[in-house]
Order: sequence, then C-alpha cells, then structure tokens
Amino acid sequence: MHAIENDVRQKLAIAHHVIAYYGWDELVATHLSARMPDSDAILITPKNTAFKNVTEENLVKLNLDGEYLSDNGHTVLEQAANIHLETYKVRRDIHSIIHTHSMYSTIISSLTTGFKFTTQHSLRFYDDIAYHPFDGLAFENEGAAIANSLGNKRVLFANNHGVITTGGSIEETLLYHYHLENCCETLVKTLQCSEEIIDIPDDICKLTKAQFDKIKTPHVEFAYFADLVRSVG
Ligand SMILES: [Zn+2]
Repeated sequence: MHAIENDVRQKLAIAHHVIAYYGWDELVATHLSARMPDSDAILITPKNTAFKNVTEENLVKLNLDGEYLSDNGHTVLEQAANIHLETYKVRRDIHSIIHTHSMYSTIISSLTTGFKFTTQHSLRFYDDIAYHPFDGLAFENEGAAIANSLGNKRVLFANNHGVITTGGSIEETLLYHYHLENCCETLVKTLQCSEEIIDIPDDICKLTKAQFDKIKTPHVEFAYFADLVRSVG
C-alpha cells in the first residue's frame, strides 16, 4: 500500500481509539473520516465496528459519490457516509471530519443559547461555529443540508443531536474535537453555577482566536494521544 495512504490509515485508526478512550463513541452510531491527500478518496469508520477495534485494515475507502474503492469486506452506514461525502465535496480545505454524540457537546446542541465563549479555550472556536436544525433521524440524504449549514465554519452543532468537527488534517480535527468536548463540559458546569459569567469583550475574543491559530501544533498533541492509547492497549 502507498506510504501516504498507510499514514492516513494509521492516524485515522488512532483517532478512533482516542475517541473510544475518552468515551465519546456511542455504540455504532457515530463516525470519523479522512480525505486522502490530493485525492477524492476518503477513509471512514466501518459499519458495526467498535471504535477500539477499528484498524488500518478495516477502514472503508469510498469515492465522493459513495462508491466503494476498498474490498476488505467492510461496509459503511449509508447516511453516515453521506454527511462526510457532501461536506468534502464543497469544502476542499477539509481533510478530516469527526461526528459524535458525546455528552457535553450534545447537551450544548440542545440549548437555545448554543455554545458560549466563556473561557480562554472556548475562544479557539470564536466565530467558527454553525448550527443545523433538528428534523428527525437522518434516514434521508441530509448531508448536503448539513454541509450547507456548516458553510465556512469549522464546527457544527447538529441541534438536539450532537456535533461535527472538521479540520485540515486528522491531527487538527481530533484536537478541535478534544477541546470542543472539554469546553462544552466546562460550559455545562458553568451554567449550573447561579452566578453571573464574566463577559469577554469581542476584540479580546478575536485577538485570542488569532493567537490560538498562530500557535497551533496539532501534531504535537497527536503524538501525545497516540502514546496515550498505545499505553492502554
Ligand atoms: Zn449523529
């Protein structure tokens, strides 16, 4: 197998293990994917496979029309693939997508206030969050509508449902997802305090977001994540 594809497979398998380690997977209902560099082929979670059992070999390879490019005997949940494929079609800058129903992001997805920028870490996502209205289970093709709602943002809260995180690489997307879920946990607990929240002025929000974008080192944190899941087996 080509070295570049091998690298993507290895990283995407690790990302599944990290999601499982933190307990952000949910039976067989959530999914991660990555686009092969300089290609329209994507790798995605195999159907009915526990995240901790996802390997470089059982990932499913599709083209952007959803046609199978792999013949490893594994298939993909059709409506799951649809969300990823439609987003990759319209956002050439996106190379990885994570969709989960992780608890704290899902709680925030159900609040009319949505995500709030109350902490330093939350400002990583300043002006970079979109929302998509809930309209029942995604049995129909909802991918195009979700991609449309995402627009040019990095994160989408699927209202009353869960979250979709995107990035320019597997490392970047996983790091965003990590920070987003943690920020949502902090926000949920902050909202439980019966005290007023200190407001962060808009200009400071913008400045901090720009600072975060400047010092981004997702490969460093990814090495940490890889080490973490290797150590727990
Ligand atoms: Zn979902």
